[in-house]
Amino acid sequence: MAKKDIDWSNLSFGYQKTDYRYVSYFKDGKWDNGQLTTDENIVLNECAGVLQYAQTVFEGLKAYTTVDGRTVVFRPDLNAERLIQSAERLIIPPVSKEQFLDAVQKVVKANEDYVPPYGSGATLYVRPYIFGSNAVIGVKPADEYQFRILVTPVGPYFKGGVKPITIRVCDYDRAAPHGTGHIKAGLNYAMSLYAIVEAHKQGYDENMYLDAATRTKVEETGGANFLFVTKDGKVVTPKSNSILPSITRRSLIQVAKEYLGLEAEEREIYVDELEDFAECGLCGTAAVISPVGKVVNHGKEICFPAGMSEMGPITKKLYETLTGIQMGTIEAPKGWIVEIK
Ligand SMILES: *Cc1c(COP(=O)(O)O)cnc(C)c1O
Repeated sequence: MAKKDIDWSNLSFGYQKTDYRYVSYFKDGKWDNGQLTTDENIVLNECAGVLQYAQTVFEGLKAYTTVDGRTVVFRPDLNAERLIQSAERLIIPPVSKEQFLDAVQKVVKANEDYVPPYGSGATLYVRPYIFGSNAVIGVKPADEYQFRILVTPVGPYFKGGVKPITIRVCDYDRAAPHGTGHIKAGLNYAMSLYAIVEAHKQGYDENMYLDAATRTKVEETGGANFLFVTKDGKVVTPKSNSILPSITRRSLIQVAKEYLGLEAEEREIYVDELEDFAECGLCGTAAVISPVGKVVNHGKEICFPAGMSEMGPITKKLYETLTGIQMGTIEAPKGWIVEIK
């Protein structure tokens, strides 16, 4: 095995074609066994369910090299479970957990030369997705689907050290009109594009979405969950059934309690209490935690005492412990690290 000649530490978070992708077809009521293919293009009927009614769901996880040179993925069973839940919500026939895990093994193994080396900060991003592929014109679910996984090497989220970001409180609702905010679906992302483009134009890195009903409670950003630290060192994250259950956030809560001996709690968080927090971060697969330095709520600036120029102390401990667990320098809870064989 020879790693590809890639400048790993200068990769961006972008797509790059690799050698293989996985594809399985659903037809006549069942999924086939799946296979790897070298063809990165998909040919679809003009009336495919995914194109007309956005019947598609996805997941995101990463494969990387540990300190002792193993290729691993982080908690893929949770991505499998979440993909199944997302699929059920959009009347997409779910793949089994076994097929999902087997597909991840096969596609990462086949592209092992693209898994960035330990210490490069880069990872192989793994993107499973399922979509309706046959022609549908009446509003109904498709009869045929494709379950695919593409992989692409992506760069470290933070180049040249961690840089805290500024976000704005957003006036748009993130969720698609049918309450799909808690699933990982293309629909939610399409609905958030307008808001993120506008935020960037105004100089913000991200949007803080509020609950649609009362517009007083913190939900999440377009693609990451919030995590706050109180002034007395307690970790709190928003409780809501319309945010995506981030695997990183759930892992960080467990790390806070079991590895760092901190109190951690999921509860409703009001925008009005933002100024009481000492630290704020965004959690997701790509960055683990990105510190937030400032939130702007319609002109009112809320700066977090820790985290304006660097990561706050507790955010940093959480970050270092979870990345240590992922990279194999700290012992992982059972089942968190799955080796690609
Ligand atoms: C993927 C995603 C997250 C982060 O979840 P992880 O499982 O930690 O990667 C948070 N919010 C949204 C809307 C997402 O799509």
